[in-house]
Amino acid sequence: MTARQPLLHLIAAVAALLITSVSAHEPLTLHIAHRAAIRDLPAPAATTQSLELRVVNLDQWPEAEIHAALRSTAQILGQCGIRVTRADLLQVTAPESHRHFDTPRSRELARELALPKPAVFFTAGTRQIPAFDAEAIGRGNSRTRPELADTVWIAKGARDLGIVVAHELAHVLMDSGEHDSSSGNLMSESTTPQNTQLTAAQCERLNATGRRNGLLRGVD
Ligand SMILES: [Zn+2]
Repeated sequence: MTARQPLLHLIAAVAALLITSVSAHEPLTLHIAHRAAIRDLPAPAATTQSLELRVVNLDQWPEAEIHAALRSTAQILGQCGIRVTRADLLQVTAPESHRHFDTPRSRELARELALPKPAVFFTAGTRQIPAFDAEAIGRGNSRTRPELADTVWIAKGARDLGIVVAHELAHVLMDSGEHDSSSGNLMSESTTPQNTQLTAAQCERLNATGRRNGLLRGVD
């Protein structure tokens, strides 16, 4: 035994304490206060695909605002023959730390909720840098954050909400971050009330990829 051993023990004890305090997260407690199934969304003249959405209200967004946004989203996606057959709205009370979009915390939240996808989260804001009003995570950009695959995150204050949700869902369904600068296109970088159109090629890609990834169901 040498005189240095007690010091080594002390260092080891301090290190263990530090590791414990870093890894000892508070368990994430979520409270689902209210569930509602929205079924009265506008349907396209001819439906070829059906889409079911899970919608999470994380920050007391007025339900009427979410409802109105989803109506407009359903109208836009209807161009591709997609009908939003149902949208399950969940009112979730989460700790303040988990109400914003913030990759590590949003991963915890998504893991805990374990919702079928695609899922749209109406958040208090974003803590990501750069900060976007809305983000879509498909398969291609979720390798390091698998819990977030096929999710959309909307920050409070986003304008043209229905168009934003449709734009982000189109990213998810196409599994692509591409934009299209042609006039009036939904996938323009900027979401404006004028940008609502999808081309036949975009619909084709959206339907094929969405179906392959199990996010859309074919309707006979
Ligand atoms: Zn985009």
